[in-house]
Amino acid sequence: MATSSAEGIKWDLSDIFAAHDDPRIDLTINDCRARAERFADCFRSAMQRPETLTPDVVLQALEELEIIYESLGRVGSYAGLLYAAETSEPDYQDLEQRVEQRSTEIRNLLLFFEIQWLKVDDSTANRLLADAKLKTYSHYLRSLRRYRQHTLTEPEEKIINEKDNTGRNAFGRLFSEVTSSLSFPFEKDGRKDDLNLSQILSLLHDPDRALRQRAMDTLYQGLSLHDQVLTFIYDALIQDHLTMDRLRHYPNPIAQRHLFNEIDGEAVRTMMHVTEENYPLAQDYFRLKAKLLELPRLALYDQYAPVGKDVRPFPYQQAQQVILDAFEAFDPKFRQIAAEFFAQNWIDAEIRKGKRGGAFCASPSPQLHPYILCNYDDNLRDVMTVAHELGHGLHGSLSRKQNYFNYDTPLTTAETASVFGEMLVFDHLLAHQTDPQVQIALLAGKIEDIFATVFRQNVLTRFEEKAFAARTEKRLTPDALGTLWLEANGKYYGDAVDMTDGYRWGWSYIPHFIHSRFYCYSYVFGQLLVLALYRMYKDEGKSFVPKYLTLLEAGGSDSPEVLLKPLGVDIHSAEFWQKGFVEIKGLVANLQKLI
Ligand SMILES: [Zn+2]
Repeated sequence: MATSSAEGIKWDLSDIFAAHDDPRIDLTINDCRARAERFADCFRSAMQRPETLTPDVVLQALEELEIIYESLGRVGSYAGLLYAAETSEPDYQDLEQRVEQRSTEIRNLLLFFEIQWLKVDDSTANRLLADAKLKTYSHYLRSLRRYRQHTLTEPEEKIINEKDNTGRNAFGRLFSEVTSSLSFPFEKDGRKDDLNLSQILSLLHDPDRALRQRAMDTLYQGLSLHDQVLTFIYDALIQDHLTMDRLRHYPNPIAQRHLFNEIDGEAVRTMMHVTEENYPLAQDYFRLKAKLLELPRLALYDQYAPVGKDVRPFPYQQAQQVILDAFEAFDPKFRQIAAEFFAQNWIDAEIRKGKRGGAFCASPSPQLHPYILCNYDDNLRDVMTVAHELGHGLHGSLSRKQNYFNYDTPLTTAETASVFGEMLVFDHLLAHQTDPQVQIALLAGKIEDIFATVFRQNVLTRFEEKAFAARTEKRLTPDALGTLWLEANGKYYGDAVDMTDGYRWGWSYIPHFIHSRFYCYSYVFGQLLVLALYRMYKDEGKSFVPKYLTLLEAGGSDSPEVLLKPLGVDIHSAEFWQKGFVEIKGLVANLQKLI
């Protein structure tokens, strides 16, 4: 196997702890445990008598909680990062599990604080929240109260937490085990191999049409062999979700996700409706792509066929240069922050056995800088991945001025900085390419990427809604799910793409349906938001930059709607969401010109 240019690029975690057996790890956990017990002794009775609660007491409690969570987060992040980098190392596996278990115990000791806070009546809560002393914690305290009608008693919540491990979490693990052990027999260049799921999926990007078709048939044929267990898992999880909705008084299955995202369902409905109205735009692109591939019509397995000329190889050092230049053109501060990630070894980029696949950026807490993991393989796609994760890294760095509770952003805006970072790098690359064939490849890649995050995720969410509605009537069968899936996709592809019959299994391996239901619309939100913001940047130029920096610095200190207001974003307006599609239309028109 050829080695990637990122060989030797590993992160340095010694800022957090020295090694997996650093005695400070256990000292930290023991200290958290002792603090949590003291916390319960000090504050349990005070929280049970809300009429006597003073801002000083609440402040004292929050400051102590912050210290405990921060320390637990430090240990948890360290264990998680070590494990992600070497998943097969038994010492790291042990540490991760031990930390997880002890953290759950400690968090259970602290659970009463939140539950009691939800029981505090509105007038007392408002009296406390109005006090200047609690100003920096007011968003956290206020937003916790959105769960008031949906939280059960402390013993009930504890039982749910524990039973979930053998209930819905167990079904999730079963799904992971089944899908990660899938094996697809496939013959290529006269060699027979057993491919895993990600290997067979990557063949859908192959230039050879017959091979793509064979890969797709093999994929769905392989999935259909597990129809019973995959359907059973999904069916059970939907039923579990519906049961919890009833017990927690949620009006509909998607409501708890909206609440978690700090977003009003009405805004999401508008966004999804506008997205659907733009399905014909996608179909126009599919017809254009058919022309590029010299086909009368696109089949599903042609969707990701390469067009134009690939810019390969793309060495890591060059990626670093391109990303830093692109960030600098936006704002020198961006370059300065991103450069530190490279210089201080906060990125683990090399490919090695036992390392977790994919990529992520971990922003443990305001007291620590973020870390990035990726598997750099000298592709253009990898450059975009690094740009994406560095976007998260910028966000995580800029929002370090927030306290622990205001640090993280909800899902809907969590992808803003990352997708924006990708846009900066994409534009920079496109502007510096002179070969039209390379420009075609870049543009088509970007358009298909956006389709995958906007249109496809909308289709996924519509399918989920339909599956949940169908489950209220009867148990789900593979047949019923397949039909719902084809219906939801049929609206998107229209008569521009031929769906294969095997595609009825397309729903069965998507992890979000299992691990984080109704998550997918957040991708639509993030991508359309960034397209609109990026247009503002192009129109307004440098005057946009400080507004954008303020948004990133704000972290999760308020709801997305409030934080986005100063930028002129109205998430309730259909016109706002349409702006994103105007941008997509522009990209498709540019491609058409090149052809
Ligand atoms: Zn991301």
